[in-house]
Amino acid sequence: MHEMSVALSVVDQVEQAARSRAGHRVHRVRLDIGELAGVVPDALAFCFELACSGTVLQGAELVTGFVPGRASCAPCGRAWDTGMPPDMICASCRGGATELLSGRELRITAVHWAAEPTAPTPAPTPAPTPETLHEES
Ligand SMILES: [Zn+2]
Repeated sequence: MHEMSVALSVVDQVEQAARSRAGHRVHRVRLDIGELAGVVPDALAFCFELACSGTVLQGAELVTGFVPGRASCAPCGRAWDTGMPPDMICASCRGGATELLSGRELRITAVHWAAEPTAPTPAPTPAPTPETLHEES
């Protein structure tokens, strides 16, 4: 299933980012999905939940943004919404020099971290940041 491989890829990328944020859990992930990326958002949401199980993303919310397919014609400069399946022929000059401007995106645009410590302490000590490490040296 295409959506499962996308979900695993998203989880993998966020997990890598999470390594520098020990003790932080992921609250929300925003993902832009292009109209032509071949991903069904509902199916992706289902797979995302499965892929998050047992990771720092467990329970995280997936918020998806829609990016419409857009194409432009090099000879005449016309730009149009491609729709799905994509219409890649320029309606003005019937030219074939069509460039796809957008619509194939599968891009994490934001990760929201929950400041929830892994150990239940009333006043958690913030993890050292590069700035504080710099002051000590
Ligand atoms: Zn054209």
